[in-house]
This record gives sequence, C-alpha cells and structure tokens, in this order.
Amino acid sequence: MDGKFVAWDEAKVHVLVSGLHYGSGVFEGIRCYKTIKGYAVFRLKEHIDRFFNSAKIYFLNIPYTREAIVEATKELIRVCGLRDYYIRPIAFKGVGNRGLDYRENPVHVAIAIWPWGAYLGEGARDKGIRCTFSSWVRIQNCMLPMMAKATGQYINSSLACIEARMKGFDEALMLDSRGFVSEGPGENLFLVKDGVLYTPTPGSSILLGVTRDSVMKLASDLGYKVVEKDILKEEVFLADELFFTGTAAEVTPIVEVDHRPVGDGKVGSVTRILSQRFFEVISTADGRYSSWFDFV
Ligand code: PMP
Repeated sequence: MDGKFVAWDEAKVHVLVSGLHYGSGVFEGIRCYKTIKGYAVFRLKEHIDRFFNSAKIYFLNIPYTREAIVEATKELIRVCGLRDYYIRPIAFKGVGNRGLDYRENPVHVAIAIWPWGAYLGEGARDKGIRCTFSSWVRIQNCMLPMMAKATGQYINSSLACIEARMKGFDEALMLDSRGFVSEGPGENLFLVKDGVLYTPTPGSSILLGVTRDSVMKLASDLGYKVVEKDILKEEVFLADELFFTGTAAEVTPIVEVDHRPVGDGKVGSVTRILSQRFFEVISTADGRYSSWFDFV
C-alpha cells in the first residue's frame, strides 16, 4: 500500500478520501494460478495495461510505472506465500478537495491478494447458474466510459446483482440503453447458436474482459467461429448455450434465464469444451500461450 507491505489490519484510509465519496478510483481483478511450471499470474500485463488505461481516462496519475506494479504484485505473492490468489490492485483519490474536482488530491495505490474460489458459488462451474434480466439498464457508454474499470461504476452492477439474488437467481444479465444484451454485473456473456459463438460488441456498454479475449482466442484456435454482434434478449432465450467469462467467474455456464431453460437446461457441449480448454491451458501454462503467464 503506497509503496510498503502493510499487514491486513493496518491497510486503512481516512473517511474523507474522495474515492469513498465519489467513486474516484480504478481497480483490477486478476488471478494467480498454480501451473505445472510453477505459480503464474494470468495475463498480468493486460490487466495492468487496463488499470493504467482506466486511470488515464479518469485523470488519476498513478505514481508508479507499469513495471513497478507488475513487480510489486509478484513480490506480494512471494511475501504472502505461494498459492492460488485473487489479486486486487486499486488506485484512488485521497483527501484534499472535498468537492468533485479531485485532480489535485493525492493518489493512493494498493494491491491486495486473498484466496477466492468460485465467484458464483461452488458447483457453478459444473452445474451452471440461473440468471434473470435486470430491471437496471447498464450504464451507457456516453454516461461513463464502460471500457474503464472504475470503482464508482460498480454501484450499477451491485444494484443488478442484489436484485437478481433477492429474486432467487444466481446472477443478473443486463441490457444496454438500446435494449441489446450487454453483460453481467461482473462478467462478459457468450452465446452459442448452431455451433457459432456470439458475444456483445464493445459498443454494448461492456468492459472488454481479459477472459473474454482469452476465450475468443482459445475458441478460434479450436476452430470455432466467434462473432461480436448486437444480441437481442430473445436470442438469449433461444440460445443453444450461454456462459459467462470473467477473472472471478472464470468460465461459468448459464443453464436458465428467467425460468426458460437454456437449450435443454444442461451445461452445453461447446461450453464444456471451452471451459475444459481454459483450465487445461492454465494448469499446464500451455506454451502456445506463453505470453499469458507471468511466473512468480
Ligand atoms: N464485465 C465487468 C463489468 C467486470 O467487472 C468484469 C470483471 N473484471 C468483466 C466483465 C470480465 O473482465 P475480465 O475477464 O477482464 O475479468
């Protein structure tokens, strides 16, 4: 935290930090996995690039180089002991101007790690989850830069997630302001129809997920056609298969949407193949994708 290793209980901030009041912060979610070649952080460079891109958009000058953040992440894992971790770098505006122009406020940077298993619950990866379309519309690209991963943007996600859980579903699906399918509160969506993979376009108010990119590459390398397109709600209801991707969610099949079974209501074969391939590439640190692995 701010250049030092700090014990969990000491990692504190003042109650008047701008980041707390106005959401002036950017963050990342990354995973470190055990592979047969040693512990590796998955696509660390891409995540740190997105971290700096988010910061640039929001006028946050991170007072470290990308290389320093990469090194600090790996050093933190060594200091805490090698195991599978979820990694959370965050940069946020501190105490200073109490109004909205936070440009002169100091920037704090922290990296936290903790073990975090299946984000959508144990068994989600094998059995799949049940989703509902949210009554909350995804924030529009012209309201907030949806390619940036900023803390303040996530209250839109929280409302959708909480609503879904209160209705008894595992997760929400969100539409963009045009009525096309956008993403989950913290996951990108893929749809399979007649053996072809479809996923919403960057213009659908989505975060351009690193897992989305990885799955698109793995799928095309396996010979699948992958198409980015505007997706209608009814295409979701009529899909053969659906799944979420994300660092936290990894590859999570969706087997039901608003009481309609997806396909036959069981995890689909293409989803299984891609999910297996994803975890196989990671656990073997597959040499064909060597640039994806940053060994600790
Ligand atoms: N969309 C949103 C809104 C997210 O928060 C995340 C998680 N970072 C994703 C998609 C998936 O992105 P990634 O694969 O880079 O984790």
